[in-house]
Amino acid sequence: MSHKDHAFDTRTIHVGEKAEFLEGSKNEVVAPIYLSSTFAQKEVKHHGQFQYSRTQNPTRFALEQRYASLEKTTYGLGFSSGLAAEATLLFALIKPGDHVIGFDDLYGGTKRLFHLWEENVRLEVSLVDATQPAMVEAAIRPETRLIWLESPTNPLLRICDIRAIVAIAHQHNVLVVVDNTFLSPYFQNPAEMGVDIVVHSITKYIAGHSDVIGGAIMLNDTELYDKLKFCQNAIGAVPSPFDCYLTLRGLKTLSLRMEKHQSNALAIASYLESHPKVDKVYYPGLKSHPQYETGKSQSSGFGGMISFEIRGGEKEAVQFLESLKLFTLAESLGGVESLIEHPALMTHSSITAKEREMAGIKDSLIRVSIGVEDKADLIADMEQAFSGI
Ligand code: PLP
Repeated sequence: MSHKDHAFDTRTIHVGEKAEFLEGSKNEVVAPIYLSSTFAQKEVKHHGQFQYSRTQNPTRFALEQRYASLEKTTYGLGFSSGLAAEATLLFALIKPGDHVIGFDDLYGGTKRLFHLWEENVRLEVSLVDATQPAMVEAAIRPETRLIWLESPTNPLLRICDIRAIVAIAHQHNVLVVVDNTFLSPYFQNPAEMGVDIVVHSITKYIAGHSDVIGGAIMLNDTELYDKLKFCQNAIGAVPSPFDCYLTLRGLKTLSLRMEKHQSNALAIASYLESHPKVDKVYYPGLKSHPQYETGKSQSSGFGGMISFEIRGGEKEAVQFLESLKLFTLAESLGGVESLIEHPALMTHSSITAKEREMAGIKDSLIRVSIGVEDKADLIADMEQAFSGI
């Protein structure tokens, strides 16, 4: 059955299930986990739909169909992590001497990957403030191959005008990549705004339960897809069938989870904004957010991530973090449980202090992934931790 005309909530549940695409399809309601690493051939010269699980596996195939459906693209590709997806993308597209423009507030691991490419294949990277499309345009050179964006960014939740940057990029024959991890396809579909390649850390909201590491690429262009598909197999950073199954399962509640993440986040951001021990709150759903209107114009929601600067510095931040009881002090985000962390000492410690300072990541900054627990319990936990400072 084609789910092309069905709404998002229907597609999160049905696309790829019922093994409807498989040879000799059975009548399972849930797509099974195909653990087999290889598939028997009837003839030496011909293999069936599946041959070897690095190349393609039925459970991964089901998931890749759902990825494409949710991001409203023609193609979806699964990877063993978000960074594996990003590295495969760079392998497929970057040649020595190419230039990439990135948002200066990208996830630290993406910047680390760019540094590796700078060292190894003479890639040049310019990090710019992409909240100003004119700054992106000014950075374009004849060798520019990609513009790499997150919106909102990690960890400062800055938003760029995706449509304006796509228009600039395409005038210069440059491809636009958007890492859509923070909003998930439930709140934002970059490909609908003309973005060429969408990447995800599946580890976060898409899988949603802090028990999978995974990545994805979604896109429309057939030539680019063929190149990426070739590299996916050639490099081999593919997800296991069990992780694909967990992701298919997690995805079924994406809409429900995203709505709850967001309503909790809005309540907690408002609480933090009026707290005397907080200097600044970064949440795209607050009217005080500098790109609030841009966010509203291109996404249907603001997500569940909040960052804030605690009054004081590293000492107060660490004291607050270590006093919490319900929030778990841990890297990552997007799971049903609330996680909290210190970007300068944890997720973003892989970038230099100078880069952190340039990007505005202070020692007083705390990043919170708001889970789907009861919001009053979350606020009470923060209150008891603030009261000890
Ligand atoms: N992109 C963003 C926005 C992230 O936050 C992360 C991880 O935190 C990644 C990419 C990398 O994904 P993974 O950890 O699945 O490799």
